[in-house]
Amino acid sequence: ITILGVESSCDDTAAAVVRDSGGRAEILSSVVYGQTGLHAPFGGVVPEIAARAHAEKIDLCVEEALKTAGLSLDSLDAIAVTAGPGLIGGVIAGVMCAKGLAAGSGLPLLGINHLAGHALTPRLTDALDFPYLMLLVSGGHCQFVIVEGPNSFSRLGGTIDDAPGEAFDKTAKLLGLPQPGGPSVESAALGGDPARFDFPRPLLDRPGCDMSFSGLKTALLRARNAVVAEKGGLTEQDRADLAAGFQAAVADVLAEKSRRAISEYIALAPAQPVLAVAGGVAANQTIRGILETVCTNAAVHFVAPPLALCTDNAAMIAWAGIEHFRLGLVDEAELVARPRWPLDPSKRSLIGGGK
Ligand code: ATP
Ligand code: FE
Repeated sequence: ITILGVESSCDDTAAAVVRDSGGRAEILSSVVYGQTGLHAPFGGVVPEIAARAHAEKIDLCVEEALKTAGLSLDSLDAIAVTAGPGLIGGVIAGVMCAKGLAAGSGLPLLGINHLAGHALTPRLTDALDFPYLMLLVSGGHCQFVIVEGPNSFSRLGGTIDDAPGEAFDKTAKLLGLPQPGGPSVESAALGGDPARFDFPRPLLDRPGCDMSFSGLKTALLRARNAVVAEKGGLTEQDRADLAAGFQAAVADVLAEKSRRAISEYIALAPAQPVLAVAGGVAANQTIRGILETVCTNAAVHFVAPPLALCTDNAAMIAWAGIEHFRLGLVDEAELVARPRWPLDPSKRSLIGGGK
């Protein structure tokens, strides 16, 4: 099975071709056009700018993905496209493009949930069996999901307010570090003392896997303002200590909640227990390290796909397309773009904040 994937739900325009010949799946091409530069002056993704840039770049992106793969549309089996959740203008640009390609070629069309794309990535890279536990931790999301099948997810909990990536980005802004904030806060934290400032570990006193990161942001603002009020500005060391303290607090929360998610998951008695991570924040070495330790202690295998497949890309959409295609889950009806689309609709009422 060979599928073209198209992704445009946030600030990356992407297209990829993935082939599954029965054994290990192969990424024949994966093209990503980032928009960071376009949004940089505004300190965050501007939906209108994103939508226009997606519409401008998407055809070129698809063309490049096909060319790199050395394939034309008629040698594909289907087209998979992110149909949500995300910034609706961007999602529409992708869906329109994919619909046009499908109509022109007669290929079946598959509408993929972006979060399912992230959640199924470990099966593309590591050939895992269901069910496995997934921590999706990115700029817009933070949730624990048990992945039971290509179309079956059980959400254990997640953030009730900000996503950690968003908190990293705001922290960078407050400390005067460049965007995206994750990598710059991580490198600033290298020389820092995580114990100098006392940052909260929100919701650890409550049972379950829900998390909160907005209080951490307020705590950081207060700590920074206190230093500025006292000394008139921040030294390199102050920045490093604030960054390290913030990062350690995020890591501790993710670690403790992972322990709880693991015990809920282990109760299902999976043959080979696995915790997999995805999302940009999973690139953080401190966070990776602490999660690895949690897994080692719980005798759970830790899987972290390569970074280019953790952040937004279209190979994960093409792969999710393959998983759906194998089950015959082709979208016969009119495919609609959805700004919101929880992975686990049965628990819709429990989902607070985020997408
Ligand atoms: P989503 O996928 O939820 O729609 P997104 O596309 O913004 O959101 P990703 O591309 O997966 O998310 O990740 C980007 C986020 O990851 C940014 O907030 C960025 O600051 C954060 N990030 C990247 N590298 C690191 C790092 N080393 N440490 C912490 N955070 C990081
Ligand atoms: Fe994403």
